[in-house]
Amino acid sequence: MTAGGPGRPAAPDERRAELAANLAEVRGRIAAACAAAGRDPAEVALIAVTKTFPASDVRLLAGLGLTDVGENRDQEARPKAAECADLSLTWHFVGSLQTNKARAVASYADVVHSVDRSRLVAALSGAAARAGRTLRCLVQVSLDEAEHRGGAAPAQVPALADEIAAAPGLELGGLMAVAPLGADPAPAFERLAALSADLRRNHPDARSVSAGMSGDLEQAIACGATHLRIGTALLGGRRAIVR
Ligand SMILES: *Cc1c(COP(=O)(O)O)cnc(C)c1O
Repeated sequence: MTAGGPGRPAAPDERRAELAANLAEVRGRIAAACAAAGRDPAEVALIAVTKTFPASDVRLLAGLGLTDVGENRDQEARPKAAECADLSLTWHFVGSLQTNKARAVASYADVVHSVDRSRLVAALSGAAARAGRTLRCLVQVSLDEAEHRGGAAPAQVPALADEIAAAPGLELGGLMAVAPLGADPAPAFERLAALSADLRRNHPDARSVSAGMSGDLEQAIACGATHLRIGTALLGGRRAIVR
């Protein structure tokens, strides 16, 4: 479908033009959604989720002015971040994270969006402290507990947030969620916004709301998202991934 997709490598110039066009379209969608919501586009960060795409795409996106990159698997993210170390990008880890990968992720990630349990807080804290780094952490909230797509139950959010805020090497950034599959995303994003307002009563600086993907960024912006995680709309279709 797209010339630079995983199946068929494109010439760099062709791929660059394709990414530039996709980026312009996404920026246009963000501007329109912000205008409709009465928000300033400057308060909505765009994270390019580059999973399954090569480091060469990250480099092209950086050349087009993107500063934030998201990945969901350590095995893939670690070498890509190393290959792009000269670009001074901000790396976001957005996938479910095993405790035994915490140390590796803490070595290159700047933000972890998928913190959903105490053991992971402890592992990330130990790893960040040992590495002499500060890791910004978002609590991933499950907005559809039946689906098992990761995330803490809403009732667990305050305690996890307190743990992150108190943990050496970690900084509490806010909340993240993935909208339930196949449902209208708006109610889920409204729920997330309400949880974010609750969180900010005790943690006024934890303002990040990571919500919105290629298919639902407009609804996420309408509900106050501060970070969009966009893969397909920027990079093109991915091959089916077996998890
Ligand atoms: C892959 C992924 C995205 C990007 O999804 P698209 O629909 O391709 O924009 C966002 N968030 C997470 C957690 C992901 O794993």
